[in-house]
Amino acid sequence: MSNARADGTRAAWLSTIHKFRYDPDRPATAEIWSPRLDTASRDELLDIQSEKLRTVVPFLYENSAFYRRRFDRHGLIPSDFRSVEDLVKWPVVDKAEMMTDVTEHPPYGTYTTMNDEVWAQRGWMMFSSSGSTGVPRVFRYSHFDREGWAWANARALFAMGFRAGETVFMITGYGPHVWAWGVQYALAKMELPTIPGGGMDSRARANVILRFRPTIVLCTPSYALHLGRTLQELGHEPAATGVHTLFLGGEPALAVDATRRRIEKLWNARLVEFYGCTEAAPHAGGYSCPATQNDAVPATHLMEDVQIWELVDPESRATLPEGARGLTVCTNLHSESSPQLRFLVGDYTTLDTSRCVCGRTHVRAVGSFAGRADDLINLRGIKMYPVQIEDAVRAFSGSGDEFEIVLSTNADGLDVMTVRCEHADHATDPGGLQRRLEREIRSRCEVRVTAEVLAPGTLPKTEFKAKRVRDLRHKD
Ligand SMILES: [Zn+2]
Repeated sequence: MSNARADGTRAAWLSTIHKFRYDPDRPATAEIWSPRLDTASRDELLDIQSEKLRTVVPFLYENSAFYRRRFDRHGLIPSDFRSVEDLVKWPVVDKAEMMTDVTEHPPYGTYTTMNDEVWAQRGWMMFSSSGSTGVPRVFRYSHFDREGWAWANARALFAMGFRAGETVFMITGYGPHVWAWGVQYALAKMELPTIPGGGMDSRARANVILRFRPTIVLCTPSYALHLGRTLQELGHEPAATGVHTLFLGGEPALAVDATRRRIEKLWNARLVEFYGCTEAAPHAGGYSCPATQNDAVPATHLMEDVQIWELVDPESRATLPEGARGLTVCTNLHSESSPQLRFLVGDYTTLDTSRCVCGRTHVRAVGSFAGRADDLINLRGIKMYPVQIEDAVRAFSGSGDEFEIVLSTNADGLDVMTVRCEHADHATDPGGLQRRLEREIRSRCEVRVTAEVLAPGTLPKTEFKAKRVRDLRHKD
């Protein structure tokens, strides 16, 4: 790859990114950070996407060995991609393909546009995927990407109601995960008060809430329940603490109706969340629509000036028309470190491009997101998400916050599922409760399961991201 072409295409891409970074430092209005972007017409959004695409494609071709090989393999050249409509020519990239690249070219793979010289100039920070499939993969993000990350996330946080006057309690271990760090960078940009909550136990965190009165708490949904119960054990009602917003991540929240209602009731707070993935970071791909809160169906806006979002059929991977349910695919227009052309993020949803009542025009994922296709449990050919079981368990009055799904192989060689949950009345009516829960799960998931009803406090408490599924099945 020639250096002049590599440098020239990089410069052209960078200048397009800068050209459209409207309102770089502060919100333009009281409600919307960048109206020129967040409320642009659909045609304007498509034009921005196409203009960025025309520079990102040659940039990838000249700077990334992974992309260069793929262009050659599919008989494509950069000028084949003039507008968003041309994207379908590029076959979807999945995690397996990226894993192969990393295995053949350890430890980072070859998809990035950064060579050693650029990495050294820009500097970087390392992150890793949560590793829902296989070994966690690492990602480096340059400090150029970090600036754009803070800007895009600030727009998203602003849309979710983050304003001067709020204090944010960040309950995260500050591990190598993009979500909390990206929020931290955006909060610093927005000059909002922040309390770091890593490295303390739940009683210490409960005391931080009581003493310093944060108004927004960031944590996982499991932890929101655990922390609320800890406050109650200390004699305080979470709903009376002044926390009005829970910013949840790490596990699906808004899309799991029973969990959402349980957390909202416990805290008397509204729930908001981001959507995205480490591969197509930095910055969130989407954020809770502010108009969601009073609706039965939650919605997530996907940021379309920084990424292009589409849905594909899970089998054929063909692009689906608006309104059809399919898997998310992301083209990341803004990352120097982790560019993506049609990366299969892999969450099921339905898209709606009509103008939202909140005023924003960026596409909405209706119903938000209930989990990656990778998380799907396949039990004797019947497929279900752990969140479907979660919804059944938590809809059940008196059930505890913790539960566990155990998959195992019985003496006849048949794969079976056991759902273990806690219930306050386990001692008085264990058989009745067990049958009701089994019926409930069977009607929701169309699968026969065994339920085990346990005394409260039996299952280990979730501190961060819950591990709900234990798969002990014999593998062929
Ligand atoms: Zn909206």
